[in-house]
Amino acid sequence: MERTAVYPGTFDPITNGHLDIIERAAQIFDWVIVALAVNSAKKTLFTEQERFALATQSLAQFANVRVTLCSGLIVEFARQQGAVAIVRGLRAVSDFEYELQMALMNKKMIPEINTMFLMPHERYTYLNSSIIRELARYGSPTIRDFVPAIVADALMKKEEFRARNAG
Ligand code: ADP
Repeated sequence: MERTAVYPGTFDPITNGHLDIIERAAQIFDWVIVALAVNSAKKTLFTEQERFALATQSLAQFANVRVTLCSGLIVEFARQQGAVAIVRGLRAVSDFEYELQMALMNKKMIPEINTMFLMPHERYTYLNSSIIRELARYGSPTIRDFVPAIVADALMKKEEFRARNAG
């Protein structure tokens, strides 16, 4: 039986930390569906189409990974896809409480689907999308160490646009 995992997130934008988790998941599962949350309460820098395009292009090298927009409950989406697991990245203790709460709630709704936590390489422990957005705001070239080139280019373009319109 083929095993599918769903990896949900906001991906605003996708980073090398996300890619690290996806690569690990793609080795464990037959199929990985990256579920890009579109109705989250979070206000995002990139639109859902932009986040989708950046994720899709960044993941082109993985034959068993695809990206899907997801507007409903993740656990329900996972069930519809026939997934056996939801994958989440765990970086530090600070992630734990929120992740535990979500995993338990998802398990209560659909007990057959387990949440699986994967740890990224330690070089990504302190990386998250909001730090990248912050660095991009100040035009820091350091973002290139932490996101795919197309994402860095998109961030710089977004900031140039913002600066032009502000001034
Ligand atoms: P969400 O809003 O659902 O947290 P994110 O896009 O921020 O969406 O993150 C999606 C998943 O990726 C989460 O499980 C998060 O813990 C994980 N993640 C984010 N950044 C990293 C990273 N640098 N290393 C490992 N996992 C990460």
